[in-house]
Amino acid sequence: MRCRALSLPLVIALLFSVPLPALHSHPAYQPIHRIDTQKKVVALTFDDGPDARYTPLILETLHQNGVPATFFVLGAQVDKYPKVMQWIKKAGHEIGNHGYHHCDLHKLTEQEIYDEIKRTERSIYRTTGVLPQYYRPPGGVMTHDVWNAVQSSGYDLIHWSVDPRDWSLERTASVIANSVKKNVSSGDIVLFHDGGLNQRQTLAALQELITDLRARGYKFVTISQLLEASR
Ligand SMILES: [Zn+2]
Repeated sequence: MRCRALSLPLVIALLFSVPLPALHSHPAYQPIHRIDTQKKVVALTFDDGPDARYTPLILETLHQNGVPATFFVLGAQVDKYPKVMQWIKKAGHEIGNHGYHHCDLHKLTEQEIYDEIKRTERSIYRTTGVLPQYYRPPGGVMTHDVWNAVQSSGYDLIHWSVDPRDWSLERTASVIANSVKKNVSSGDIVLFHDGGLNQRQTLAALQELITDLRARGYKFVTISQLLEASR
């Protein structure tokens, strides 16, 4: 599926939106997957929420352990569950932009990608007062159009370096936890999902992981804090 059909108000908004200026390619513009650092820091990130059932449970586990994280939210989910979005903000976590509908970006034009980002930005701002700074494209898709749209929207592009594939229904909590434990090192960005299909296993893996990584001397940081650690 390309992405969900456009609503009538959005079509009207797009008709009256200001066209993008002519853009040039920026070959040096690369997504951030991780940082090089000697400091034992790791960033936990959660995509595709907020989810009515699992995001609050994940927030509770993070709170009990005093762990900050970064949530790359979908605009459509923010509009559906504004209270949960506000809980994420209230708990002090960082908020990133993951687009509005989780579209296949290969099938969108640069303008459509830009509009996905900006529509989500408006939802996040309206709900929390936060203007996000980081964008993560659904599926980590990188095309010229994605680069240009992200750059003209003013975001930093954040990918990940450790992917336990927690969205897969075949992955149990211990498989997810072991995958992270085995692959993580200083400066990594770990990809989880608080929305999607398999969050129960993600939730179950989370406590085990936090305990294990803490025992190995890791400190948990947001994406902003991680980037600061690289300076
Ligand atoms: Zn996603």
